Amino acid sequence: MKACLLRSPARIETHPLEFTEVPDPVAHGDQVQVRVAACGVCRTDLHVVEGELPPRKSPVIPGHQVVGRIEKTGEATSRFHIGDRVGVAWLHRTCGVCDFCRSGKENLCDNPTFTGYMEDGGYAEFILAPEAFVYPIPEGLADLHAAPLLCAGIIGFRSLRLSGVEAGGKLGLYGFGAAAHLAIQVARHWNVSVYAMTRDVRHQKLALEMGAVWAGGTVDEPPEKLDAAIVFAPAGEIVPAALQALKKGGTVALGGIHMSPIPPLDYNLLYHERVIRSVANNTRQDGEDFLRLAAEIPIHTETEVFPLRDANRALNSLKNDAIRGAAVLKVE
Ligand SMILES: [Zn+2]
Ligand SMILES: [Zn+2]
Repeated sequence: MKACLLRSPARIETHPLEFTEVPDPVAHGDQVQVRVAACGVCRTDLHVVEGELPPRKSPVIPGHQVVGRIEKTGEATSRFHIGDRVGVAWLHRTCGVCDFCRSGKENLCDNPTFTGYMEDGGYAEFILAPEAFVYPIPEGLADLHAAPLLCAGIIGFRSLRLSGVEAGGKLGLYGFGAAAHLAIQVARHWNVSVYAMTRDVRHQKLALEMGAVWAGGTVDEPPEKLDAAIVFAPAGEIVPAALQALKKGGTVALGGIHMSPIPPLDYNLLYHERVIRSVANNTRQDGEDFLRLAAEIPIHTETEVFPLRDANRALNSLKNDAIRGAAVLKVE
């Protein structure tokens, strides 16, 4: 099959992904083989490719927002039929026996594996995944539009939940890329007012088009105090600005897997029971709840489509804030 292979991490400007031929992966046991139709491009892929996340498999095929169809099934599978349309996300497999797995917090599993990082991902024509970690994709969402829901969408949704924002509340979104442009649609559906803080004026414009009541620069103070904020941009210096914008008792949820250092905080910014919390991965329940809601709203995904062979270019655009909405690799 054709795939984009990362042999060793390097700056994306050097085009580290090699578009090449590799053997088709073979499904065994509880695995299904999925023929990839589309794979979303996530900032985490950039962290993998550039080495901010230490290599865990080498070489590796990145990509963890996959939509495709079941092509083959392992001998111990029963859940899907050949041809079923499914999604594969970041959480590749959990141990099922640790305290976290047994208490409904599998996103914090002690021994997880992750798609496109510890196992080969979806920048390829085929991918393997354990059937229990594969999501049926609701009808009505086209392949290219559904792919970014698998990480940007689900993580945005979990971030919204953990921010504690309620109907009628005011929410700040810091960074307005793939995750934020999906999260705003859920927030609007919940009757939440959204304030977008992002450095790129194109992204400010998109936020306003999508129903934000206000948009400004990354550390600009919104015109009203916020009940909650989500930081999607991987920049620690945003955290004090987000706290500054919060009402007493508000929460800042940090949606990224990697962030530059957070500067020292004046305790006054945190006092009055403000909360900073990170968001780590997602449970399968988050994914199922979000995909159902996405079909119900229905969520509209803004996409910029690249052919599989141009994954380096897609990641380069993402790094330079040049993507409106979500970048997606079209594989078929
Ligand atoms: Zn576990
Ligand atoms: Zn992701």
